[in-house]
Amino acid sequence: MRILVLGGTQEARHLCERLAQRRDVDVIVSLAGRTAAPPRMPVRARTGGFGGASGLAAYLVDEHVDLLIDATHPYAAIISANAAEAVARAHGRILALRRPPWQQQVGDRWIEVADLQEAVRALGDAPRRVFLAVGRNDLAPFEAAPQHRYLIRSVDPVTPPLRLPHAEYLTARGPFGEAEELALLKQHKIEMIVSKNSGGDSTYGKIVAARALGLEVVMPRRPRLPDVPSVASVDEALAWLDHADLASARGV
Ligand code: NAP
Repeated sequence: MRILVLGGTQEARHLCERLAQRRDVDVIVSLAGRTAAPPRMPVRARTGGFGGASGLAAYLVDEHVDLLIDATHPYAAIISANAAEAVARAHGRILALRRPPWQQQVGDRWIEVADLQEAVRALGDAPRRVFLAVGRNDLAPFEAAPQHRYLIRSVDPVTPPLRLPHAEYLTARGPFGEAEELALLKQHKIEMIVSKNSGGDSTYGKIVAARALGLEVVMPRRPRLPDVPSVASVDEALAWLDHADLASARGV
């Protein structure tokens, strides 16, 4: 049974760690190549795009992939759509591993917006101190609001820096605990946060810290993802595998 895991998330890595212990599966993990030094993978890894849905479909056939597990980030909508289309073209099987979104709790002050452009507008006209934790590739829209002071955290450095007069950069890789997030927000006198609704524990600390400080969190909504069989955790994915009729998955 050959499985292609589309990765780039902690769950994908944890899933690969668990699958690497099994003798009934042969696993390839695919990374987009966005980070310079991704964590070491316990299974065979390939890096870079496939060339759209048709390229991915060809890869599935050429590599005799029986099952594709889409364990990409919930905001990685293009690759998820491509995965669903490619599997349909290649008559294969697909499972999506999707973290449930965070739900607002009492004390949360979220401003849910359609996209990053709307997130920029939600910051308002008056200068604010803003913590941007949206990922290195989604920062450009904020150049439209140079009046704010930004603290920008990303895994790899932002190069070239944004065309913003007041931006401080921080490179760090999660998970980030609540106490350290609280300290960071206080140290930089942050007034607003922009965050995706990523779900999961590893980046939830800033949401809890924002609640404690009564800060607004501007949150672009999750994109629409294809309607495919899905599970919410690594354990559920492994249980799904145990119960799936894997023999019938062969022949992609
Ligand atoms: P995207 O917009 O949905 O995908 C853009 C293109 O990148 C895809 O069309 C595909 O190129 C390539 N690609 C994406 N994921 C890939 C993978 N796992 N393996 C091979 N190619 C991949 O995705 P994105 O938002 O750029 O995210 C890229 C990666 O970063 C994903 O693996 C995702 O899990 C991870 N990530 C994303 C976010 C986020 O907020 N978007 C956050 C954390 C991690 P081709 O069309 O050429 O195949």
